[in-house]
Amino acid sequence: MLIEEKRGVEEAYASATTTSDMRVVIDSERQGDAETIIAAGMSRSAAGACFMRLHGEWSRSEKPRLPTAEAIKKLADSLTFDQLAKMRIDLGLASIGNLRPSHVVAQMAAEAQAKAWYVAEVEMLLGKMKSFGSAKKYLVEHLGSWSSHPEALRKQMSVETLIWWLDKQCKVCSGTKWEVAPGSNRQNGKQCKGCRGTGEAKVPRADIGRMLANYLDDCVQIARTDIKKRLHRT
Ligand SMILES: [Zn+2]
Repeated sequence: MLIEEKRGVEEAYASATTTSDMRVVIDSERQGDAETIIAAGMSRSAAGACFMRLHGEWSRSEKPRLPTAEAIKKLADSLTFDQLAKMRIDLGLASIGNLRPSHVVAQMAAEAQAKAWYVAEVEMLLGKMKSFGSAKKYLVEHLGSWSSHPEALRKQMSVETLIWWLDKQCKVCSGTKWEVAPGSNRQNGKQCKGCRGTGEAKVPRADIGRMLANYLDDCVQIARTDIKKRLHRT
């Protein structure tokens, strides 16, 4: 499918799910929003339609921004010994638990704090999205069909993969693929170490994350094809 066509289908679907007057569109002669909704409902992959809706909601929302390197450094510099000790416990920073307080430890703690803040903000935002609950349910169920992980862990893995899928950009280089010289805004000509120059963040949870990501893409592909077929059948 051409990119233009893809966009057309997604826009039709996004507008269909936000329309307020169904009667008008049912009466209208053009391919109406109501028909688009019916088409999506009849889709071979209701899951795919749900993931598309979630992606639409995500694109239209005001997203939290990961704190800048500068802000993280500022936080690291300002940390007192007591704050650092508390952060180690709160953030579960086992890897730096036995290290003596130092600039490096403070920087690691500040980075972990920034990441935890960002994830909490993203989860809060997702919680407000209408399609998030169903999207998570589809993923958890799919994961349960081939994984024996306990449900709480399956939920965690599903949410992490959903967050990655919605926003794949590398958070280290902001998708630019290049490293920025410390203390400046300039690229230093080296590939970003966070993404090895791909501009894309690593899928969480290794193989499981990859399989969930494939499932997300497959479902969306099926839903998209079905919706497009029905849009063209007039
Ligand atoms: Zn990167």
